[in-house]
Amino acid sequence: MDESQVFDHFRESGALLEGHFELSSGLHSNRYFQCALVLSEPKRAQALAQAFAGQVPVEVDAVVGPAMGAVVWAQEVGRALDRRALFTERKDGVMCLRRGFTFEPGERVLLVEDVLTTGGSAREVIEVLEREGAKVVACGALLNRSGKNPFEDLGLPLVELVRTEVQVWEPSDCPLCAKGDPAVKPGSRTAAEAGS
Ligand SMILES: [Zn+2]
Repeated sequence: MDESQVFDHFRESGALLEGHFELSSGLHSNRYFQCALVLSEPKRAQALAQAFAGQVPVEVDAVVGPAMGAVVWAQEVGRALDRRALFTERKDGVMCLRRGFTFEPGERVLLVEDVLTTGGSAREVIEVLEREGAKVVACGALLNRSGKNPFEDLGLPLVELVRTEVQVWEPSDCPLCAKGDPAVKPGSRTAAEAGS
């Protein structure tokens, strides 16, 4: 699956919106990705996960993603690789492993995110997993928005289906605002209509 086919899955499921958006950060952008929408269609999720699994360069025993965003993605990648799929979650703001999930000492983990931005939460997951005795051997994302491999310093390979740098602007510098177009908040009814 090449990048344009990945984008087709995003567009056809409404997971890639093009227009003028106000992001939760307050910045404006001309594109918005909502991975949950493409993953909400099982056949698309399966196709993306199979393409992704085919790129994993090392043997892994389990796939782990941080909740909520990566739960479904980890499950689909785990299915494609025929490996366990688990998730970490935040309790009182702290990333942890719950629900009876455990690891064998040295169990090799592929850590996945749906959207990778800075890799900050993934690093928290790595700490949790290593404390639990697992060894993270590779990281991956459906969509890498960081423009690089943010885990290079850890010596971890990164698998990505799409690498894209989304352009963002402060509202005061936004060329779309300058044209007089109103920005919409993704997830609102207006944004959903813009994507249809
Ligand atoms: Zn704007």
